[in-house]
Amino acid sequence: MPGAVHVHPVEDAIEHDTATPAADCVCGPLVFPYRDDDDGPVLELVVHHALDCCGAEWIAQDAP
Ligand SMILES: [Zn+2]
Repeated sequence: MPGAVHVHPVEDAIEHDTATPAADCVCGPLVFPYRDDDDGPVLELVVHHALDCCGAEWIAQDAP
């Protein structure tokens, strides 16, 4: 596979494996075919799952 694009949480409870094209990460990511442009090669879009359900983004949103 010529390449893969990983979408993953930045500060999660675990380290996500984004070094390999295949979906080897423990979070069980979803893999979709992906193209940069119409004539480009088909890549992998690897979408990781956040294992920390209450990440920093949510905690930062205090009630007014
Ligand atoms: Zn992952």
